[in-house]
Amino acid sequence: DLTLTKVAKSFGVNVVLHDLDLHVRDGELFTLLGPSGCGKSTTLWSIAGLHSPDRGTIAFGDRVVFDGGRIDVAPERRNCGVVFQSYAVWPHLSVHDNVAYPLKLRKERRPARAARVREVLELVELAHLEHRYPHELSGGQQQRVALARALAYPPDLLLLDEPFSNLDAKLRERAREWLRALQQRIGVTTVFVTHDQDEALSMSDRIMVMDQGRVRQVGTPEEIYQEPADVFVADFVGTVN
Ligand code: ATP
Ligand code: MG
Repeated sequence: DLTLTKVAKSFGVNVVLHDLDLHVRDGELFTLLGPSGCGKSTTLWSIAGLHSPDRGTIAFGDRVVFDGGRIDVAPERRNCGVVFQSYAVWPHLSVHDNVAYPLKLRKERRPARAARVREVLELVELAHLEHRYPHELSGGQQQRVALARALAYPPDLLLLDEPFSNLDAKLRERAREWLRALQQRIGVTTVFVTHDQDEALSMSDRIMVMDQGRVRQVGTPEEIYQEPADVFVADFVGTVN
């Protein structure tokens, strides 16, 4: 599981996370939902080790990866698979080489590497496009390459920052169902970030609604929708009072 305890982060005078507590259970798909600028990406980056919070602790199971600056495990040693909001795939590398990249970094040997690349490309249904380059793919296919890359070296935690932001409404809906099925099949603990309430409600085990760096409510989609904790949550998830 993943536990954040009183994580605080400011950029200059702008307090972005106010003593944030968060707990994600093993195997669940946990969604951070909230309006633009509420601190979702900052939270995800802190988990991945790409930002250092000012205070607080972050633990993966009983392994503390951040502790008020005393412990600050480097991102490459946290074993998180990350798909960024602007899903950067390397434009000069083929699909195969993009996915192989994290395996190369970890000095995985060539035969094992090729087999693993094929395996994850099959998982995201892109095995047939292995030799293409990103510019020869649709936006949705590129996002699946980014996902395959995040899964290549089996992550302890999968962190997805608005991975469907560049898809049109119809593709988005299919991508949700597909990702949800894949996540359940491989059982990877996942933190999913979105500002889209429908997306959150349709695919999450649990949702944390955030507003200006604070937690408004944590619950199942049913709880969030049917028993919003306050007016902000009710407004944001579109519950009709
Ligand atoms: P969105 O839905 O638009 O992606 P978000 O919830 O992911 O929003 P964050 O990216 O976490 O929001 O940003 C939270 C706040 O922190 C915003 O006010 C943003 O301007 C600020 N911020 C984020 N990164 C930095 C940075 N590197 N330097 C200064 N301010 C930052
Ligand atoms: Mg963001």
